[in-house]
Amino acid sequence: MRSAAGAASHNNTKHKPTMTKTLKLGCIADDFTGATDLANNLVRSGMRVVQTIGVPTASLAADVDAVVVALKSRTIPAADAIAQSLDALKWLQAQGAEQIYFKYCSTFDSTPEGNIGPVTEALMDALGTDFTIATPAFPDNGRTVFKGYLFAGNVLLNESGMQNHPLTPMTDANLVRVMQAQTKRKVGLIDYKTVAQGEAAIRERIAALRAEGVGVAVVDATSNEDLHRLGPALKGMPVVTAGSGVAIGLPANFGLKPSLQASQLPVARGLQAVVSGSCSLATNAQVANFKATGRPAMAINPAALMNGQSSAVVQQVLAWAEPLLKDGPVLVYSTAEPEAVKAVQAQLGVAEAGALVEHALAAVARGLVDLGVKQLVVAGGETSGACVQALDIAQLQIGPQIDPGVPWCHAPSENGGVHITLKSGNFGTEDFFSKAFGVLR
Ligand code: ADP
Repeated sequence: MRSAAGAASHNNTKHKPTMTKTLKLGCIADDFTGATDLANNLVRSGMRVVQTIGVPTASLAADVDAVVVALKSRTIPAADAIAQSLDALKWLQAQGAEQIYFKYCSTFDSTPEGNIGPVTEALMDALGTDFTIATPAFPDNGRTVFKGYLFAGNVLLNESGMQNHPLTPMTDANLVRVMQAQTKRKVGLIDYKTVAQGEAAIRERIAALRAEGVGVAVVDATSNEDLHRLGPALKGMPVVTAGSGVAIGLPANFGLKPSLQASQLPVARGLQAVVSGSCSLATNAQVANFKATGRPAMAINPAALMNGQSSAVVQQVLAWAEPLLKDGPVLVYSTAEPEAVKAVQAQLGVAEAGALVEHALAAVARGLVDLGVKQLVVAGGETSGACVQALDIAQLQIGPQIDPGVPWCHAPSENGGVHITLKSGNFGTEDFFSKAFGVLR
């Protein structure tokens, strides 16, 4: 929490930063839940990881192997994305990062102008390097790259629904072409045959591409084995650009192996609660599952928040929760079926409805923490952003995975901090809301 970051900064004025010979990987992620996804993969491969919300103002207080700086730079103007990424780079360099990892989406979300190409180029320039790789491959999540073409599940990227994305429509699955449109550097390919032969062949191919003047090489990978073969060839490369998949092959370069220690968080204490603003299919099932366990659940009706009634509703919800919390987790949710969501959106407008609900749920999260909740599950990407902001969280230590892509995190503060997990819409099994607390125990 900010108070902790403030305390760290205060300490650092007295003592030289304890930082750190151990910051091996400095990561820059172009969105918030993507940052957590990367951090989760690094932790599972043996690194102790902190995720920061934006570029910190103070030095890093924790002793960790990697830091993931979470930006929101995916769809902002390229010049702004470059500026923010370079700020992050500067901070990571000041913390002693040995290698930089630029993380983007596993569906290579970008427009013809960027921001993947321009940010890659700017990082290369700043680091004075003439070569890097680019691959969004994440086989665990069905994202594979073959002959330079990106597949999402069994279909090419441009047939996967991503061609209709409202902000970053992906109409070409050929990543060499897509990347070439975004960068002045020459783009090449390290194909599956080379990757299959392992480190020496990959290094040889990199040398050949460099000799041809190639600055960025898309890399094929269709399995985790491919990513583990790629990893050693990336040792010493100043900047790597990728989705979260490549991360599984990097910790070994620093002598790290998967270990339970990497995901160790402070012991969890305090009351438990779930706040859910996601309306995805998976989250609807998770809400139903939690209610079926008999635990208390309170729905927030967006219409009730209108006309300045939000604060009153939040107070009602907190008054309801307060006496129940001592007996176990409670759920507060706005999660609803698509027809109900559409009706509310028709009444309020899509953006207004979203903002109204996010604001109310964030205030509920804040209120619950003030009531002593120290283990908090939040469902929904945007909802998570709003809650993290309302809780004034600046830094998250990444802990054990609950389900793929969703780890527990710990936000330190003077009063012991909060354990929090941020579940994006479609992640997690049906019993996620109950199961999550079991993982902390
Ligand atoms: P997901 O990860 O599933 O996309 P998000 O939190 O990112 O979830 O997005 C859900 C959006 O829907 C948020 O803006 C939230 O405020 C809004 N929302 C939540 N509940 C409702 C509802 N009942 N009616 C309308 N909008 C809602």
